[in-house]
Amino acid sequence: MSVDLIKKIGVIGAGQMGLGIAHVSALAGYDVHLLDNNPDQADAALKKIEAHMNRRVEKGKMSQAEIVAALPRISTGTEMSAFGDCDIVIEAAVENEEVKKAILRQLCPVLKPEAIIATNTSSISITRLAAGTDRPEKFVGMHFMNPVPAMELVETIRGIATDPDTFNTITELSKKMGKSPVAAEDFPAFIVNRILMPMINEAVYTLYEGVGSVAAIDNAMKMGLHHPMGPLELADFIGLDTFLAVVNVLHEGLADSKYRPCPLLVKYVEAGWLGRKTGKGFYDYTGDGDPVPTR
Ligand code: NAD
Repeated sequence: MSVDLIKKIGVIGAGQMGLGIAHVSALAGYDVHLLDNNPDQADAALKKIEAHMNRRVEKGKMSQAEIVAALPRISTGTEMSAFGDCDIVIEAAVENEEVKKAILRQLCPVLKPEAIIATNTSSISITRLAAGTDRPEKFVGMHFMNPVPAMELVETIRGIATDPDTFNTITELSKKMGKSPVAAEDFPAFIVNRILMPMINEAVYTLYEGVGSVAAIDNAMKMGLHHPMGPLELADFIGLDTFLAVVNVLHEGLADSKYRPCPLLVKYVEAGWLGRKTGKGFYDYTGDGDPVPTR
């Protein structure tokens, strides 16, 4: 399908990434349907997107007129059948292969035969996810960065069966969304997370072994390397469940012990301390002032 034929985009998962993908899609002039299986998430989605857009207006990154034009293009819901008129559906639910496969099984029967399926997975094999669909040649990876409206990169990933036409279309679509696509091969965690996640995991080991406190590690990396966020702050921003899932995919997919997840990270996830989205991770965000380190 040519990119010019894309009029309506479906997005699955109204978490931080799905909201961002819906935001940039509507801003680029596309009709969008955003689905979440949690009715509360689906109901809250439009308000959250509006709040995010308002923040972009305050920063001078977009205009009020763009909000007025973009918001009515977005519909939300919990029913897969609403994707029947979408030209492409971008899956951005939790980083769990079984959940993604189950979603894809439900999605395929409602889609138009020519519709493309993209996944925003951070790490899972595009080829393996594609194999569970009725259209591996129209299945592709579109890995947006967080926060989607602010970050220019989209990693574009071909599965073994993805046809060149599909790959070209999503490359052009990324550009229409104002993004810069970079092609990555279908190996665990692709390019950015292959490099980033081991670094953050090492930061958690550095904490675990007592080399530095949360504040010391983040301050050292910000001042020492001019990183805008420290690695533990970034881990909280990504979501510790997503971070752990990606490290596990690297560990299992590359069968190399250098990718083993730090036991302290596992402990945080077991506690339900998933970072900003749950109010607590390496920092506690529940107070009125600055986030407070939890170690
Ligand atoms: P999140 O936890 O913020 O949101 C996930 C959403 O998926 C939730 O709203 C949840 O209710 C929904 N969901 C779960 N099961 C579902 C189902 N069966 N059907 C529909 N919705 C379902 O997670 P996120 O950070 O938005 O990550 C989403 C995807 O994007 C993951 O694959 C992740 O790896 C990827 N990603 C995340 C980041 C990041 O920095 N967090 C960056 C790039 C890509």
